[in-house]
Amino acid sequence: MYDLIIIGMGISGISASIYAKRAGMNVLLLEGSAPGGTINKINKIENYPGISSISGPDLAYNLFDEVNKLGIEYKLERITDVILEEIKKVKTPNNVYEAKYLLIASGRHPKMLGLKNEEKFLGRGISTCALCDGALYKNSDVAVIGGGSSALSEALYLANIVNKVYLIHRRDEFRGEDTLIQDVKQKGNIELILNNEVTGLKIENDVLTGITLKDQKELNVKGIFIYVGFIPNTDFLINSGVNLEDGYILVDEHHETNIKGVYASGDVTKKEIYQIINAASEGAEAVVYMTNKTN
Ligand SMILES: Cc1cc2nc3c(=O)[nH]c(=O)nc-3n(C[C@H](O)[C@H](O)[C@H](O)COP(=O)(O)OP(=O)(O)OC[C@H]3O[C@@H](n4cnc5c(N)ncnc54)[C@H](O)[C@@H]3O)c2cc1C
Repeated sequence: MYDLIIIGMGISGISASIYAKRAGMNVLLLEGSAPGGTINKINKIENYPGISSISGPDLAYNLFDEVNKLGIEYKLERITDVILEEIKKVKTPNNVYEAKYLLIASGRHPKMLGLKNEEKFLGRGISTCALCDGALYKNSDVAVIGGGSSALSEALYLANIVNKVYLIHRRDEFRGEDTLIQDVKQKGNIELILNNEVTGLKIENDVLTGITLKDQKELNVKGIFIYVGFIPNTDFLINSGVNLEDGYILVDEHHETNIKGVYASGDVTKKEIYQIINAASEGAEAVVYMTNKTN
């Protein structure tokens, strides 16, 4: 029986675990993929105070190193279900773990475009991670789809590796940070295609060769990088009774859900700003609020 189980080893879950360990809680971190979570996919992070520039994988490594140095217990197991009564039960394919408190910090994953054959070519021409797959398209032409900060920053990263980036956005203005918009506009090998959408994939001999746009134009690109939004990772909560909106967890000002003793933090929650800085602080705050209640 743990005091606290944390679902997700992204920056939010790890920050929470550091605060919990330091508060003397018996805490277990559970992670279904790689420690560090989404930051593993970020090329450069330049908006975290005190660290002027760091690669996402380096920050993920530092976080994981801290977990190990503090002796925080973790297990690499995917949660499939939870039962949220007085004691919180967390199920993985082979185990059931129990705790007094649960913190859900399971983040979100990229949305796809919904095109025919899209899933088939994921990893074979279609990607949601420029840092992971960009080098495969060295000196080739690629398309980046999306209009937010993620799409802009990943287009800039790819522009330094590939021959040309087509940045395709369905509206006439970008939603991202001003500095990124200016940088994208000044980059010689990024061509902006606004008010347009990808409607199909061009495939020849089972190889992705390009895309078709809404205006019938065709672009020959070897890689397509998709940044059009996210889906919260809450499938394991379907029968839990936790209140969700559009799949995101609803929490109060103390990061507690509608179920007593069940908290949520970071990108999996319904909020305005999805950034590293608040994902980290929310994890820490949730633990402080739950320990204040206990004491
Ligand atoms: C391309 C891109 C660039 C970005 N750039 C920046 C930036 O420059 N600056 C910035 O501040 N923010 C940036 N962000 C946003 C930032 O990455 C996120 O806000 C932050 O990392 C979210 O952290 P988190 O801990 O809430 O979630 P995550 O990092 O997503 O962690 C959630 C963890 O939970 C795990 N998990 C999910 N479901 C389960 C399950 N069923 N069982 C077990 N484990 C599970 C996942 O595997 C994951 O490791 C960027 C995001 C993207 C996509």
